Amino acid sequence: MINVTLLAHTPQPLRVIYTAAKTCYSGAKPETIFQTAVTRQAMEHLIRKVVERGHHSVLEHVNFTFAISGISRACSHQLVRHRVASYSQQSQRYVEPSAEFVIPHTIRKHDKANDIFYKTVEHCMTAYKEMLTLGIPKEDARFVLPNATPTNIVVTMNLRELMHVAGLRLCARAQWEIKFVLALIKREVKKVDKFLGELLVPRCVRLGYCPEEVSCGLRPKKG
Ligand SMILES: Cc1cc2nc3c(=O)[nH]c(=O)nc-3n(C[C@H](O)[C@H](O)[C@H](O)COP(=O)(O)OP(=O)(O)OC[C@H]3O[C@@H](n4cnc5c(N)ncnc54)[C@H](O)[C@@H]3O)c2cc1C
Repeated sequence: MINVTLLAHTPQPLRVIYTAAKTCYSGAKPETIFQTAVTRQAMEHLIRKVVERGHHSVLEHVNFTFAISGISRACSHQLVRHRVASYSQQSQRYVEPSAEFVIPHTIRKHDKANDIFYKTVEHCMTAYKEMLTLGIPKEDARFVLPNATPTNIVVTMNLRELMHVAGLRLCARAQWEIKFVLALIKREVKKVDKFLGELLVPRCVRLGYCPEEVSCGLRPKKG
């Protein structure tokens, strides 16, 4: 089962971002800004303003670390294409994979495709196990494992990169599994701070138009 759990985050994320943004426009020292009483509304107002202006570097001061489990290797490959992040992924050189393969719903709901899927992954798994018994090391036997093989990964991203990734992967046209992972990530961030979680939106929402060739209709196409 696909699961996303927030392991850790920068303490007082809203106040940290507010302090970073306010420092740019204030004669006060950042440590003073950090300690001075300010309403939540004022912090949100300033952060909303700098985000709208594209002054996104202030969001880099806040990090989130997620434990992501049960995703397919197809999904983790897409995730790790996002380079401004830190990753620690379960190694197929050392760990035998679980047989709980990730199955897309288009296959699951189709009797014949479902049958083909299970026969194929079971065949792959049998081949993998047989190779291990023949003395083939895990790092080589894994070459017969399918994209549906589950994996676990720990990911740390700052809020700026999370916003960027959400912009691409929460898009209606993104692939279902990574879109689902980003929805779970957004849910975790919202638990920490609803305002910050709401910054994680498909990029058309921020742009006001759809930059994709084929639009889902959430926002109009440019022009
Ligand atoms: C719908 C969709 C379809 C895709 N299809 C394909 C595909 O068919 N084939 C394929 O190979 N990939 C595909 N990708 C992956 C895509 O090309 C990117 O590799 C991936 O989305 C990572 O995003 P990124 O490069 O914007 O940003 P990240 O790696 O998340 O980096 C964030 C930002 O930092 C900056 N940055 C990071 N590294 C550098 C650098 N070295 N130099 C300059 N600036 C940098 C850029 O501004 C970048 O946007 C697809 C992605 C999506 C969302």
